[in-house]
Amino acid sequence: MKILYVCSELFPFLKTGGLADVSSGLSRALQALGCDVRFAMPAFPSLAGAATVTRSIGLLPSGSTPWGQAPVLPAVDVALTTLPGCDVPLYMVRAASLYARPGNPYLGPDGKDWDDNAQRFAALGWAAANIGQGLDPDWIPDVIHGHDWHAGLAPAYMRAFADAGRITPATVFTIHNLAYQGLFPASAFAQLGLPESFFSMNGLEYYGQVSFMKAALQYADRITTVSPTYAREILTGEQGLGLDGLLRERAGVLSGILNGVDYQVWSPASDALLSVPYDADQLTQKSCARQALRERFGLAPQPHALVFGVVSRLSAQKGLHLLPLVLEELLQLGGQIALLGQGEPELERAFLEAAARYPGQVGVHIGYDEGSAHAVVAGADVILVPSAFEPCGLTQLYGLRYGTLPLVRRVGGLADTVVDCTPENLHAGIATGFVFDELSRDGLLGALQRAFTLFQRPRSWAAVQRTAMALRFDWHASAQHYLDLYQSLRADKNSPESV
Ligand code: ADP
Repeated sequence: MKILYVCSELFPFLKTGGLADVSSGLSRALQALGCDVRFAMPAFPSLAGAATVTRSIGLLPSGSTPWGQAPVLPAVDVALTTLPGCDVPLYMVRAASLYARPGNPYLGPDGKDWDDNAQRFAALGWAAANIGQGLDPDWIPDVIHGHDWHAGLAPAYMRAFADAGRITPATVFTIHNLAYQGLFPASAFAQLGLPESFFSMNGLEYYGQVSFMKAALQYADRITTVSPTYAREILTGEQGLGLDGLLRERAGVLSGILNGVDYQVWSPASDALLSVPYDADQLTQKSCARQALRERFGLAPQPHALVFGVVSRLSAQKGLHLLPLVLEELLQLGGQIALLGQGEPELERAFLEAAARYPGQVGVHIGYDEGSAHAVVAGADVILVPSAFEPCGLTQLYGLRYGTLPLVRRVGGLADTVVDCTPENLHAGIATGFVFDELSRDGLLGALQRAFTLFQRPRSWAAVQRTAMALRFDWHASAQHYLDLYQSLRADKNSPESV
């Protein structure tokens, strides 16, 4: 089974969030199941600088297509490459004028989307579709699996080829976050080289704009998202963000497959970024990680304080605007905070102000740093993820493995992965964290108070830690679900009705 994995982030080379972790973990797990996986990605500098070219594949077709005009793009070529430490080959989509821009793959230095993002990511979809059409005659995928709006046009081009009578691979599209939809003005459509009829309500037109996300939801053979609960939530007006109608229409081909964790990277017993490793049977050694965290974040050495950690993009999605509202109570109850994040300037400012107001009690690092992320996940007692919505969430899964109990809102993947410390769940030995419902100051405060109460009972706390640490969200299980999906698609394609 040959799978072309189309995405824009890959850990450890280029990461802005969980998407990068998923690309490396899932692709490796699919390989372990015997799939022949290759990436298609833009030649962003951090990838291009690390990659070694194995073979030049050739220029993407420009000019005409079976249905008319090809996308209007600068010269874009594709090279088969390898990356150090990565067994999955990469088709690098190369065009210096589109991709040779260091830093964030989507935003310029001013924090705004690049003006030509429609072209930049159309080129990715166009490259994937052409690989699906035999651009590399030595390797033609059975399935093109795109991830998030950046890969959204791949299924649309594939459908255009199929409508023109070509044999095409099946397409799967995974929504990692419906809030980022790849919206562009209608004028961008002319550059995409898609059939005119695709710019309609039943195509990728979204209230007069072009939506790359909608293109994928409309044209992919199967749609997945990254947790079962989020798969249900996005069918509602509240969480469907304008696409719920289409998603309800396509509910028959939509499913939720929970993300996994790369335990080679995220395990306290083998974490190269910790000076003293620990595991469930050496829980007292977690205090070394806590001490290291305090030092790193300038927190006072108060051995009995409950340390709350945050590792997050600072965006409205993450519900962290609630944290300043409960700060005073949290500190009065005997808590400390170590926060690592970057994002919306207003949130960054609020947390920096909190750190200035409460030195030694609130430590804030604004920025992106893998070492500090591991320090927080390992050293905190509780990891806070009070999200407004959360497709899957990875930090709570990392917290579980490190015995750092997640305190989360009951949404999306958080609801699917954390079991609340109710008396019944504690008694049954299945509790792993603290879960609250209402996205409000009081909702969060109630869960914080319950965390403090349990912390007064060290034996119960340690029992919950051990339950959490014993859980496994293995990529193997998730990859098996994806493989089943690919196989069912191949069976559909080969069935007599589809011929
Ligand atoms: P999202 O993809 O919505 O940002 P996830 O919880 O799925 O949220 O994944 C977040 C990933 O990004 C995790 O691997 C987390 O450790 C990492 N991360 C988030 N913010 C930072 C940061 N400031 N520094 C280092 N890693 C971060």
